[in-house]
Amino acid sequence: MRAGRGAGTARVGRRRACAAARFSAAALARVSLAAVSVTLCAPLAGLLAPAVSGGSPVAAAACAPGACAWRGAVRAAAPQRAADSAVVVLLGTGMPRPDPDASGPATAVVLGRRVFLFDAGPGVMRRMAAAGLPITGPTALFVTHLHSDHTLGLPDLIFTTWVMGRRAPLQAYGPRGLRRMTDRIAAAWQEDIGLRTDGLEHGVRGGWRVAVHEIGPGLVYDSGGVRVTAIPVLHGNWPVAFAYRVDTPDRSVVISGDTRPAEALAAAARGVDVLVHEAYPEARVAPEARPGGGDWPRYLRDYHTSDVELGRLAAGAQPRLLVLTHLVRMGGTNEELLAGVQAGGFTGRAVIGRDLGRY
Ligand SMILES: [Zn+2]
Ligand SMILES: [Zn+2]
Repeated sequence: MRAGRGAGTARVGRRRACAAARFSAAALARVSLAAVSVTLCAPLAGLLAPAVSGGSPVAAAACAPGACAWRGAVRAAAPQRAADSAVVVLLGTGMPRPDPDASGPATAVVLGRRVFLFDAGPGVMRRMAAAGLPITGPTALFVTHLHSDHTLGLPDLIFTTWVMGRRAPLQAYGPRGLRRMTDRIAAAWQEDIGLRTDGLEHGVRGGWRVAVHEIGPGLVYDSGGVRVTAIPVLHGNWPVAFAYRVDTPDRSVVISGDTRPAEALAAAARGVDVLVHEAYPEARVAPEARPGGGDWPRYLRDYHTSDVELGRLAAGAQPRLLVLTHLVRMGGTNEELLAGVQAGGFTGRAVIGRDLGRY
């Protein structure tokens, strides 16, 4: 958000606004919220309190039933670091195992009012709302690869943003196969699309659409001072998987996606401000007692990066900050993982990522 626009200014969507109560900037200041945009049409205190726990940027839509238009009623504020400074927001740090505290893989790079979303794991829209990011969708989505844990939130992203008021096609970049996936998602929800469009909801006709850009390695996005580069990585038998590097006027970020140690990624991450990288604790690797579990160590080596390997990679790349995410813990603690990174040779700043963490 730009400083001049004023954090906490209630922004009301294109449709009917809640007349009952609209927060003023002063009212928001009284509840000490730095990056909150709220439209409320129900008594405030009890509703707001749970929404601000943890100090995360918050957008709250609390409407008494039927009292206000939920479609587009909330225009959320972006989290603030400094005016127009890029912020990395981890929306989901989890793995396929459903963990209430770690949503599916999704990372946002937020620059002012623009949101660049990387992957759409399950829970992505809930986390977008919790982070105070626009529920009408990101500026663009970049998919690292088509594994289900990274794409199960794609229908949510497509349809929820539409139902919340999206009109323009969702700009989605990713490997070959993304178009077929989105086409099939659209086909699966045809009846919903028809009923929402032609029924009493009067949904925006065609507002659910996705503009798919199937990409190869290299510069894939360059607009308004933001450049996104796709970096080929090595993820087992996947024919194509990407990491992404984001360059903004003031910061650079690399997001690994899923990969075993990859030289192209290491080169792209050299000297970046933030490297967001997956990891598992090498010391915990062992065959698993299940059919096929004997291949587990090989699977990890082929598909993912251990903490020690990551430490080695980061020691060469020297990011200003290393954020570990998408952790296959196998019982490993944060301390073990960070010790593994150190054992690999990286002695710079490293943290364990958490959902809604900002870096
Ligand atoms: Zn994967
Ligand atoms: Zn994954």
